[in-house]
Amino acid sequence: MSALAPSSQLIDRFGRTVSYVRLSVTDRCDLRCVYCMPEKMKFVPRSQLLTLEEMESVGRAFIKLGVDKIRITGGEPLVRQNIMQLFRNLGEIDGLRDLTLTTNATQLEKYARPLKDAGVTRINISLDTLRADRFKQMTRIGDLKKTLDGIDAAIACDFQQIKINTVVLRNYNHDEILGLVNYCIERSIDISFIEEMPLGQNDHHDRAVAYYSSDQIVEDLEQHFELVPSTMTTAGPTRYYQLTGHDNARVGFISPHSHNFCESCNRVRVTAEGRLLLCLGQEHSMDLRRVMRANPGNSDALQQALVDSMEIKPKGHNFNLNSQEVLLRHMNLTGG
Ligand code: SAM
Ligand code: SF4
Repeated sequence: MSALAPSSQLIDRFGRTVSYVRLSVTDRCDLRCVYCMPEKMKFVPRSQLLTLEEMESVGRAFIKLGVDKIRITGGEPLVRQNIMQLFRNLGEIDGLRDLTLTTNATQLEKYARPLKDAGVTRINISLDTLRADRFKQMTRIGDLKKTLDGIDAAIACDFQQIKINTVVLRNYNHDEILGLVNYCIERSIDISFIEEMPLGQNDHHDRAVAYYSSDQIVEDLEQHFELVPSTMTTAGPTRYYQLTGHDNARVGFISPHSHNFCESCNRVRVTAEGRLLLCLGQEHSMDLRRVMRANPGNSDALQQALVDSMEIKPKGHNFNLNSQEVLLRHMNLTGG
């Protein structure tokens, strides 16, 4: 165990500093996206989840150790009861530069303004298609209008950044790449295209067949735009491009298969049960719920556990589309 120095930072064995935490506040969701979870998903019993107070303690401990960006994610974060209290409490902590949210937008009409008032700086919103029938197919139960209305409500609140996240699957939505980029240009918001990651067993489609690479998307878009690599970063894995003549919208790529981003990894995740995951694609973890419940009110013990966890942060993921081995964790448990 390494002793906790007064100004400790989180630095792993490979010299990478952890400054960004993704905090999953629930594994539950009001949608069932086909790449994320099975139709009959078995959720974690509520009794096993961290309380909102425990989640705040985790956030505070990370901030004391130099973390300056926290993304609230899930599952769908906005279905967790009383979640606004957590946003408000985190939003007041000195040292937190960026408080961000990933959401499917179904409840943003109601929550966009309170989120802005609580100090949320940026919102990522999942949107894979602009066709209502396809939206229903890809989310199994969703109503496209609710999500589009939620996006408009967020745009009206003037966040620092709104970014659409699109998981591209061949033969499901790859023909909508241009339409989605134009939708974002019209609204002056950014978009990231994501390569599907092999998290959790998937009986819906063959991930190797549905793979659509970021390079292919760049090629598709170059038929219509000039793409210029951008130096912009939001401290995450996205590589951004500027579109010449459209300064109001950027196109980003999250490419776990084609452009491995592990070398510059600055992130860890905490699941809704309080399991600190040190890599998206590996099982190395630490049970923060156990640490907190064994040492109630002792924030030093929690911080010490976070510092110690740096010893087991792995070098990178080994995602392999053709492997029979997949992580058992679905993305809603992992916190995307
Ligand atoms: N419910 C919220 C949402 O959909 O934005 C937040 C949680 S969701 C798990 C976070 C992000 O993970 C979304 O952008 C979603 O598209 C992405 N995602 C889910 N499953 C994925 C997978 N297997 N591969 C890549 N991205 C995935
Ligand atoms: Fe829910 Fe987000 Fe997963 Fe879709 S991607 S099922 S919205 S958690």
